[in-house]
Amino acid sequence: MSGTINRRSFLKMMGWGGAGAALSGCDLPTTVTLEEGKEDVVSYLMPEEYVIPGVGVWYASTCTQCAAACGTHGRVREGRVLKMEGNPVSPLNKGKLCMMGQAGVQGHYHPDRITEPQIRKNGSLTRVSWDQAFATIQEKVGAAGEKVAWFTGSISGHQKVLLDNHLGALGSNNHFVHEVLNTAVWQAVSKDMLGDASPNLRIDKSDLVLSFGADFLGTWMSSPVHFATQYAKFRTKKERGMLVQIEPKMTLTGGSADWWLPSKPGSEGLIALALANELITTYSKDTTALSDETVALIKQNDVASVAKATGMSAEQIKKLAALAARKKNVLALAGAPVEGHTNGYAAVSAIMVLNVLLGSVGKTIESGGAFPFAQLQARSGNSGDLLRFTEAAKASKLDVVFFHGSNPVYSAPNSVGMEAALKNVGLKVAISQFNNETTAMADVILPESSYLEDWGTHVGSHQAEQNVIGMQQPLMEKLYENTKGLGDVLLALLKQAKQAEYGQYADYYAYLRHAFSSMPASYKSDPASDEHSWNNVLANGVINVETTDQPLSVAKVALSAPAISADDSQYPLHLVPSGRLGLWDGRHANLPWLQEAPDQISKVVWDSWAELHPNTAKKLGIKSGNIIKVQSKQGEVKLKAVLLKSTHPDVIAIPMGQGHTEYGRYATGLGVNPLKILATETESKTGELAMYATRVKVSKTNDDDVVVKMGSSDTQMGRKFVVTVPVAQVRRTEGV
Ligand code: SF4
Repeated sequence: MSGTINRRSFLKMMGWGGAGAALSGCDLPTTVTLEEGKEDVVSYLMPEEYVIPGVGVWYASTCTQCAAACGTHGRVREGRVLKMEGNPVSPLNKGKLCMMGQAGVQGHYHPDRITEPQIRKNGSLTRVSWDQAFATIQEKVGAAGEKVAWFTGSISGHQKVLLDNHLGALGSNNHFVHEVLNTAVWQAVSKDMLGDASPNLRIDKSDLVLSFGADFLGTWMSSPVHFATQYAKFRTKKERGMLVQIEPKMTLTGGSADWWLPSKPGSEGLIALALANELITTYSKDTTALSDETVALIKQNDVASVAKATGMSAEQIKKLAALAARKKNVLALAGAPVEGHTNGYAAVSAIMVLNVLLGSVGKTIESGGAFPFAQLQARSGNSGDLLRFTEAAKASKLDVVFFHGSNPVYSAPNSVGMEAALKNVGLKVAISQFNNETTAMADVILPESSYLEDWGTHVGSHQAEQNVIGMQQPLMEKLYENTKGLGDVLLALLKQAKQAEYGQYADYYAYLRHAFSSMPASYKSDPASDEHSWNNVLANGVINVETTDQPLSVAKVALSAPAISADDSQYPLHLVPSGRLGLWDGRHANLPWLQEAPDQISKVVWDSWAELHPNTAKKLGIKSGNIIKVQSKQGEVKLKAVLLKSTHPDVIAIPMGQGHTEYGRYATGLGVNPLKILATETESKTGELAMYATRVKVSKTNDDDVVVKMGSSDTQMGRKFVVTVPVAQVRRTEGV
């Protein structure tokens, strides 16, 4: 760790000393007072004298703990960042921050951070200088050319621009973008049916949200804070919005629903078709926006036949249709449990048809508009790239691969053969803050700065009504001198390939600063002073971007039947690898604050567990706390059983995030990783990994263990902490 933490030295080191010193106090923009009269949000370019011992200063930046790119304020006191909060001017999160954003500070000060570049020789890692690491890379990259690849998580902003330029300089287009939790199928359907892959979804404008497994308060669309702010409006407006959630296992969003309905995995598309049938036949909804083939398909799927095929009662389907027909502004959503089957595209399309029939397009689904800076827009991750990457590596089409923001060795199912494929890659370079399963296979490990000590720009993978570019600035001096941010690594690689063009930038900050100077003048708050405009942007934390109107239009596509897969007598249960706000896809499993945060439904902490319906458990002779064996054709895991009625009887749900074999002192060896036993089945239209299509069998072992959870009892033990309302009364109130 560097010896002293001195803001002036830091600014000089970053090439900012002179500019910062030249600013007078009255020039400092102050936009928000967080502790009245004492704490202001300012540009980082401030004289050191402004820092008063014991008084915090808040700096605006952007959260990178997921791809949502929420605006943040970081409280810095005596050169140390202490606390993260949401930036009120960011339209994405409006001053709020989720638990993962709050825990960013813990990742920054984490004791397991990688502090030096390392090269693996004869199986052992050796510390080297950056020059040595870059020389090793240059030697291989020069020979590999178009066989160089980047494997990343979702990426946007100027980091994405430089990454694209790096691949372009080498004549390669091998950018694989992987996110376990993604909305790739929803986006494909939205693009095909509405002409916009990411329209604005207005929960706040809806009277009824009909969500088929879209955990929008948790892990869906990487925007839990954005949707939570909309949801608060939805619930508190004069006519309180109503939420119906249909899913195989209760999610955080499902736990908040007025009406929660368990669905047989893979049946949601058929249920949507039966609803559409009822809307057309009983409520005479207009079908002119639908193709003849789609109307014919809907007519084939009447309520009685779908009830028989799905196990959902005809009465429930009819009640749902009546409710949807009665409400003015309905929004139908489809989440991971719908996308993640071989019929995912057809099922999501059937749910989108409900939006068309109910007149939601243009009301609760609005055009996102055309973002003017396409290069900066998010390239959102999917699971298909995980498979495409593995195939390319197996076929020896990749000689050098750079990994950043993704841990494919952890998240790839065993059946994909990721580890064997990586042995085919000549040089694997991992840019990471922490050692993990992927760095364990890397030949070169480059230590990454935390996002709280780095520069960047970000465009969220889902934008709010007002589009923005999020500014990321260092909130303090680097903790470890020998770490670099992704931008600086990319710039160094570009200098190797194109010195004449990129040699002029001393570092990534210089590049970004130049990029801002060259932005259109309309984006500068002070046209007379580029410097003043830059300071204002840093103090504000976001650049508002005007989009051009791009109205949505419904395409008359021909819907395919979302058939349910046949029962499997040998492997009778469906495995649901559930995502979870907190550990997310496993990337935050090394943060104790997030391990300590109880699962929102089961309340379990620091562990893995399998959720089963009590009736299913009874048939199998399983009790809560029994260690059970969950076997697919691809492997098995053993873990504790937790019995919950909020799981469909055909389902066994195992939360993802645990089961790391290489992820530091807090995560390694804890729990199991359900992703490892998934089948490599794919969604039939998009090629996405069908993550919810794996069948398993479950058996009891002779072992038991204590399930550690917050709140040891599921009842109030007669203490009346929370006033309960009978279901019948709720139904009367809501008109269900
Ligand atoms: S939603 Fe994502 S970007 Fe926003 S605060 Fe949470 S982790 Fe950070």
